[in-house]
Amino acid sequence: MRRRRSPAGVHLPGLFHRLLERIRGWEQRLVRGSGEHPLLLLSYPRGKEEAAREVEIAYTHTLPALGAETVAPYAKVLAALPVMVVVLLRPVNPCGCLGHHHPAGIESRLTRRLAAELGSNVGEIDLAYEAIRDWRPQPLSSLAAGDLGESLEALHFQAALLAVLLHELEHLAFPEKKERAIRGASNEFYSEVMRELVAREGGTGYGMAGPPPRP
Ligand SMILES: [Zn+2]
Ligand SMILES: [Zn+2]
Repeated sequence: MRRRRSPAGVHLPGLFHRLLERIRGWEQRLVRGSGEHPLLLLSYPRGKEEAAREVEIAYTHTLPALGAETVAPYAKVLAALPVMVVVLLRPVNPCGCLGHHHPAGIESRLTRRLAAELGSNVGEIDLAYEAIRDWRPQPLSSLAAGDLGESLEALHFQAALLAVLLHELEHLAFPEKKERAIRGASNEFYSEVMRELVAREGGTGYGMAGPPPRP
């Protein structure tokens, strides 16, 4: 597994300032993953920092707190990605998809410029956060969630964001892999994450840390 670090000599904040002030109507947030997980550059419509914050919490708090077995199927994926992945956030996609990976050659101008300036590969995916919020890979009522009430929706959003994020990252890391296999893994991952989060929130198991901090 190769080492993952920022390309030498690049001062990220200065670079981003120069590049990003040119993009009208969109804002960016750089999110550092734990360990050697790639940096995510979230790009989202101005005023939608709530959505970006949810993705940041999912990637920096929820993911690292999951059990090793739950995350194991994605260890190879996270290790195979470029140092940085641009994540374009929109409420919904016109085609109705929850997300896409953008194969080399069709990335946005932002990603191509970043890759040129960093002198390294930069990946790109998109996520449709309102569509992901509404996605129900399994009925929430099927979870023994006791009286979690509205916080069950919040847990679902975290689990669903992570499942779709990792789904698209797997396409990016292994373009030859079949949709069926990738979807099977991400649906299973969603179920496992929900089981863990519900158990943790309900205080019934795993002895894990408390819920991630809210903004
Ligand atoms: Zn689509
Ligand atoms: Zn897919």
